[in-house]
Amino acid sequence: MALTQLDTRTFKNPADVLREVFGHAAFRGQQEDVVNHVTHGGDAVVLFPTGAGKSACYQIPALCRPGVGIVISPLIALMRDQVEALRQAGVSAAALNSSISPDEAADVRRQLLAGELDLLYVAPERLTTPGFRRLLTGIDIALFAIDEAHCVSQWGHDFRPEYRELAQITELFPGVPRIALTATADPTTRADIIERLRLGEARVFSASFDRPNIGYAIIERDTNPRKQLLAFLAKHSGNSGIVYCLSRNKVERVADWLNEQGVRALPYHAGMNAKQRSANQDAFLKEDGLCLVATVAFGMGIDKPDVRYVAHMDLPASIEAYYQETGRAGRDGQPSDAWMSYGTADVFQRRRMIAEGNAPEEIKQVERGKLDALLAVCETTECRRKSILAHFGETHPGNCGNCDACLSPVATWDGTEMVIKAMAAIYRTGQKFGAGHIVDVLLGKPTEKVLRFEHEKQPVFGAGKEIDAKSWQSVLRQITASGLVFVDHAAHSALKLSEGARAVFKGEQKVTLRRDRPRRSAEVRRSLERSVGLPPEAQPMFEALRAERTRLARQQGVPPYVVFQDATLRAMATTKPQSLDAMVDLPGIGQAKLNRYGKAFLAVLTGQAT
Ligand code: ADP
Ligand code: ZN
Repeated sequence: MALTQLDTRTFKNPADVLREVFGHAAFRGQQEDVVNHVTHGGDAVVLFPTGAGKSACYQIPALCRPGVGIVISPLIALMRDQVEALRQAGVSAAALNSSISPDEAADVRRQLLAGELDLLYVAPERLTTPGFRRLLTGIDIALFAIDEAHCVSQWGHDFRPEYRELAQITELFPGVPRIALTATADPTTRADIIERLRLGEARVFSASFDRPNIGYAIIERDTNPRKQLLAFLAKHSGNSGIVYCLSRNKVERVADWLNEQGVRALPYHAGMNAKQRSANQDAFLKEDGLCLVATVAFGMGIDKPDVRYVAHMDLPASIEAYYQETGRAGRDGQPSDAWMSYGTADVFQRRRMIAEGNAPEEIKQVERGKLDALLAVCETTECRRKSILAHFGETHPGNCGNCDACLSPVATWDGTEMVIKAMAAIYRTGQKFGAGHIVDVLLGKPTEKVLRFEHEKQPVFGAGKEIDAKSWQSVLRQITASGLVFVDHAAHSALKLSEGARAVFKGEQKVTLRRDRPRRSAEVRRSLERSVGLPPEAQPMFEALRAERTRLARQQGVPPYVVFQDATLRAMATTKPQSLDAMVDLPGIGQAKLNRYGKAFLAVLTGQAT
């Protein structure tokens, strides 16, 4: 498909390439604008969230323009799968990195010089070696794509010094379009990318960071969190997903327990030997329906598109971390779940981790702020999506219809009177005490500490007997999350009143609190069922198609999604095409894949599989 310099310079039509090669009927969102801009030689910075379809933004211009598209990617482990997926679609693609043999590398060089390649994936350090540069000077280059461009910034989460060298591409290859892509949502990093890669003149394309296909649910942990997890996993049988735990030990225990319960689970953490770890990772990538129980050591550079759920058994450190971890679900745009169970113990554990860390005080201050922001998301009575996106500076109208708060609204109550009592107790005791002591005062408990400070003489002593200690804890947690009260970490976690407290005291502002009836996990499951499940009548066909896909993938030693992605199987299962012609209309079936797999899947669809 690559054109050499001798060929005519007419460009292929992007929409044709999208349909014939990738099997997609139409561009999505701003894809078309990016593709046209780059195909016509423009530089671009693409800031789209995971799953938006960034790859097409450089793959299609590379196929439309004469010459080879050079893709710089930091993730060597992924190149193989990406290249394989392209080859299956009939694209002439290859990779050059430290993991391929000298013979293979020689072959790739030959293909490159002969103008036979459409796309070449390389590691960043390769691009700046003199040998490779010499190799590139003699050939026609369609474009440079810089994937995971946040690696150039030390503000990003994965700084790679080699990325800094990529700024030289402009001088070395003038006139060749450059496109930098990232899913990072953080404005500082974005600005840094543009500056460091000298893309100040490039057109910037940015999209909302919302991931509408991910449903969010955060439930209160009860006394049996594993059972809660199991109830959640019930609707995901046959699906792949990740369960995050904070400690290695917990990873092992949860994985063992899940296996006992009949859920196929494998552990993954930094304490395992490298061989076992990579075997488990490989199984997760290649097999359907596996649950990977992991610490956050797992996930970087995992590009599996069909992760259907991400569950958190422990609270992450920040909204950024939560969003990044949950963002590994549903890269293929299909309905997926982000589920978390959290309890008060998590909050203490996280606070202790910060306190005991080696970071300087000002960093700890930032870490506490980040934790508090995440707690506000956990405690919100509003749409989760709205409060998460607000953190990234995006306004969402709320009522997303795909989070637990929207699907089963929490019961709320007018807590103004109780909040005034709680704040009075904080104020009257001098704003020097933590939540435990404040609750004792409200309940009128004559503890040693109460007597030592003579708090039994305060009018608030015993003023809150109408609700129990657990409910008071909940009130205090909620007013902390909403900012009426803050925790002074420099003063033994004393609760203090903030400016906003005044209006409540004066009766100018009411406070709505969430009733701490733990949301039943079954209820949440039922409400989210809708978002993930196929129509029940299509389920058996989906399973049969999935089995066929597994068989074909195993034969070739590739991950199942390389054969067909879930979206394609879902469409097959619901529309049940009965001829090859009818199959072409389905998403993800281009000409090459139709030739290769059409018959095998048709046999399943028409019930003629043996
Ligand atoms: P990103 O790199 O932005 O995370 P990908 O390039 O991996 O996203 O694409 C995500 C998913 O969207 C893939 O499954 C891909 O096949 C699919 N996709 C991309 N573009 C389109 C399109 N125009 N129509 C339908 N599906 C698309
Ligand atoms: Zn919502």
